[in-house]
Amino acid sequence: MAELSKYTRAKVQPHLTGIKPYDPSFTPTRINLSANENTYPLPKGVRAAVDKALAATPLNRYPDPMANDLRDKLAALHGVERENICVGNGGDELLFNFLLAFGGEGRRMLNFPPSFSEYEFFASLTKTSVRNVRRDRKTFAIDERATLAAAPQASLAILTSPNNPTGDVADPAFVAQLCRQCGGPVMIDEAYIEFADQGKSMQSLLSSCPNLVILHTLSKAFGAAGIRCGYVIAAPDIIDVFGAVRQIYSVNVLTQAAAGALVSERDAFEPVVAQIRSERERLARKLEEDERLTVWPSQGNFLLVRMDEASTIRQRLRDEYSILVRDFSDVPSLNDCLRITVGTPEENDELLAVLAVLLDEEA
Ligand code: PMP
Repeated sequence: MAELSKYTRAKVQPHLTGIKPYDPSFTPTRINLSANENTYPLPKGVRAAVDKALAATPLNRYPDPMANDLRDKLAALHGVERENICVGNGGDELLFNFLLAFGGEGRRMLNFPPSFSEYEFFASLTKTSVRNVRRDRKTFAIDERATLAAAPQASLAILTSPNNPTGDVADPAFVAQLCRQCGGPVMIDEAYIEFADQGKSMQSLLSSCPNLVILHTLSKAFGAAGIRCGYVIAAPDIIDVFGAVRQIYSVNVLTQAAAGALVSERDAFEPVVAQIRSERERLARKLEEDERLTVWPSQGNFLLVRMDEASTIRQRLRDEYSILVRDFSDVPSLNDCLRITVGTPEENDELLAVLAVLLDEEA
């Protein structure tokens, strides 16, 4: 809602009059490294498996509201029970539902900026107030003392690991402390966890932290951002809440079928994830060779890079070379920062070559 008319300004709920929609800053380009998607082709045979599942799906019936077949597959993947899982129309829907259920007027969300801006957007939609515990301006480390001091007054918390856009992972001992201190559920958003080193997921904390919620998505490692499928893992009483507040048919039959096939083909994605991880390191090394750039270590499928004239360079990448990356220059602590999704070797090579030219020209 950019400009409200006089009529809608008067009629819309007062807290929505100034709301700024989340803007993914998307324009069609030849090489899109702006949204942390998986830019690799699906592994051999996977698309055929998805197509077969889609072809066998009747369209005349409503979906299974809770997507139980898919829940069972996800439960097997994570070694939990069906009762521990709720599926959503992308991670976004589950984030919104988390705020809808546990936030609201008079409630407070603990947030760790710079991070994924949708959390604050959904907080504003649901009238949830936000307590920002800002990360260190240089390292983006979390201020653990300030967090634990603020946690008892919070109704919920969302912490991203690996964090988008800074790339760092959370410390499990700290997450366990946060869960103990927080006045409500704590969501760890693990949208990018498949790209992190082994053992970085907080899943093992679920048995000792009954208020822990872990968010996953098929949009990143599984290369399926277009089907809109995410899921949360948590204790059954929390999952019941997600089940109660959700739009009953939000996960359509085609998404359920495609996601089921993708999860069954999970092993086929291992080489893709391994290649993205190794390309991430190669890209980071190459960028670091240029003294004009600052690159933060990342456990996701993206790199945060600081450079002079970042906004101009982003615009020229887009307009002159049809390469899209994400500009974070106007976000507090991220001045002059671009976020670059790790692409295929060819995409990364082209980005590196063009960036070198533009940095020379803008120097
Ligand atoms: N969490 C984080 C940290 C993200 O970056 C994203 C997508 N950019 C999401 C959640 C939501 O992903 P989706 O809705 O595609 O599942």
